[in-house]
Amino acid sequence: KITIDDVTKRFGEGDESIIAVDDVSLDIRDGEFIVFVGPSGSGKSTLMRIVAGLETQTEGDIHIGDDLVNQLGPRARDIAMVFQNYALYPNMTVEENMSFGLKMSTDMSADEVEEAVTSAAEMMDIDMLLDDKPGELSGGQQQRVALGRAIVRDPNVFLMDEPLSNLDAKLRAEMRTEINRLQNDLDVTTLYVTHDQTEAMTMGDRLVVLNYGELQQVGTPLECFYRPANQFVAGFLGSPS
Ligand code: ATP
Ligand code: MG
Repeated sequence: KITIDDVTKRFGEGDESIIAVDDVSLDIRDGEFIVFVGPSGSGKSTLMRIVAGLETQTEGDIHIGDDLVNQLGPRARDIAMVFQNYALYPNMTVEENMSFGLKMSTDMSADEVEEAVTSAAEMMDIDMLLDDKPGELSGGQQQRVALGRAIVRDPNVFLMDEPLSNLDAKLRAEMRTEINRLQNDLDVTTLYVTHDQTEAMTMGDRLVVLNYGELQQVGTPLECFYRPANQFVAGFLGSPS
């Protein structure tokens, strides 16, 4: 499980400071798929970055499992991240992109690394692309590689920040299904940020709605849609994006 406990993030000092995340608390169960939505600037990415250990909260605690991870950097948190600009290394092959992190940060043997890469590549259906460079791949294929690179470490937690927003509608629909399948198969706790109404309504177990860094509602997508907690949620989920 992941526990976000009274987390606040302030950028800057004094009058100039802005509150990006405002006293957010949330309990996320093992294996749960949580989707975060909210307007631009509502703190979604900042919250992801705090959970990932890429940003330090001003106040509050993050627990992963039973461990307080406030002091732990991203590597120690057993989290895999997939962001919008998935930034594959252009001069490395797909295979190298997928194995690089394992070689750098684990003491796995070469055989173990190869086995992990092969199994992740099969899972993402990219085993035929392992010798290609990212530049030779389509956007959808690159996104599969980014997901493959994320799952190769067998993480307990997935953080995805608008992973599909660069893809066209058809590919997005395909990858939605793919990510849900992957999440189910690996039973990995997932925090997923999106601007996309369909993703918000269909992908997650629960939806979290943020505005100005404040939590507006947490519930199943249907609860939030049919029983919005306030005017903001009603307007936000009800309006076409
Ligand atoms: P979007 O949907 O556009 O990606 P978001 O919900 O992810 O938006 P954040 O990127 O978390 O929003 O930003 C929340 C607020 O914090 C914004 O007002 C933003 O300008 C501010 N902010 C984010 N990162 C920094 C930073 N490093 N320094 C200063 N302010 C920041
Ligand atoms: Mg963002």
